[in-house]
Amino acid sequence: MKKVIVVGGGLAGLISAYSLARKNVEVILVEKKQYPFHRVCGEYISNETIPFLKSLDLFPAQFHPPHITQLQLTSVSGREATIELDLGGFGISRFAFDHFIYQKCVDAGVKCYENTEVESIRFENEQFAVKTKDLTWIADVVIGSFGKRSKLDVHLQRGFVKKRSPYVGVKYHIRTEHPAHRISLHNFKDGYCGISNVEEGKSTLCYLTHRNNVKRHGNLPEMERTVLFRNPYLKKIFTESEFLWERPEVINEISFATKAPVENHVLMCGDAAGMITPLCGNGMAIAIHASKILSECVSDFCYERISRQQMETTYQQQWNHHFAKRLWAGRQIQQLFGSEWTSNLAVDMARYAKPLAHVLVKSTHGQPF
Ligand SMILES: Cc1cc2nc3c(=O)[nH]c(=O)nc-3n(C[C@H](O)[C@H](O)[C@H](O)COP(=O)(O)OP(=O)(O)OC[C@H]3O[C@@H](n4cnc5c(N)ncnc54)[C@H](O)[C@@H]3O)c2cc1C
Repeated sequence: MKKVIVVGGGLAGLISAYSLARKNVEVILVEKKQYPFHRVCGEYISNETIPFLKSLDLFPAQFHPPHITQLQLTSVSGREATIELDLGGFGISRFAFDHFIYQKCVDAGVKCYENTEVESIRFENEQFAVKTKDLTWIADVVIGSFGKRSKLDVHLQRGFVKKRSPYVGVKYHIRTEHPAHRISLHNFKDGYCGISNVEEGKSTLCYLTHRNNVKRHGNLPEMERTVLFRNPYLKKIFTESEFLWERPEVINEISFATKAPVENHVLMCGDAAGMITPLCGNGMAIAIHASKILSECVSDFCYERISRQQMETTYQQQWNHHFAKRLWAGRQIQQLFGSEWTSNLAVDMARYAKPLAHVLVKSTHGQPF
């Protein structure tokens, strides 16, 4: 029987590993951190994922995730519009959701290595050697689900790492009066901030901004006071909510550059294959959908129904078919955000040209799968 190693245990890696284990494929999952842990993420998951999650018994119903049906948009200066979402989504923290799927993986027989960082992946004579500081595994297939940016991207000499990326992501969990059915997207100069609810009545407050915005003001609290507070909605949230952590989760160097879904025979999944801009609220749906497509291709290869070449070509074609346009649309729409006049334009569109606003939202979302 062929052996599969999944490098990186975010949603893409966990769901690929779980799906393959359910097909009786031997899988090892390697994750650098230890579950449960927090990640920078808005924690709004598109409902397009629900049929697939339910089919694998992975829908986290026991957490009672709030159902989100409405988008509220505010501009840098605080002009507001709301639109009803066609598909909508649900809210659950990554702390709870990833840990829940990790436990499902363990139960399904995935061999999980936490606190373990993969340092190199080499392909030779139809097999991979996957190395950590202390271990070396030999495998027939490697799934690269190591997220938006990893040391492995440098090791694999992936083109996008040569360019620095200016985006910084910041996340808090807070308690505030935010309507459960709503996701809000508040603009500020050179950034945008999402807020929506997750389990246990908590809300996730998560923003993306330019590195220079932080540099200009010296630190995050000062930037928040000087820049984010100009939007009255954000000022109210920041000054009237209970912040549940001492300091936020922060990540740098977030890149939306085009990447290849297969590199050096490694099958990339989730953000490692390409990341959609966060304002679309669709990165997790894409990671989950790509895991479904990938696990089908990999299991066909493991059971010798297709060759390696067919596995790689089919996955690449399917990935481009389902996601390439959505990532492109996300990059274009992101340009409407973070400046005074374009964010006003986006709000006016949502107010007075609702059909056009719906087309834009749809262009970044997929169909239920
Ligand atoms: C500011 C912001 C807000 C967002 N908001 C939303 C939202 O509301 N809704 C949505 O759907 N999406 C959102 N996203 C996108 C979403 O978070 C990602 O698309 C999603 O997490 C991708 O999952 P993944 O499994 O590909 O990567 P990740 O979740 O990043 O997982 C990658 C894993 O690989 C591990 N890893 C890395 N290198 C190694 C190594 N060498 N060895 C072992 N392990 C390794 C990491 O520790 C990590 O656990 C947001 C993103 C940002 C930046």
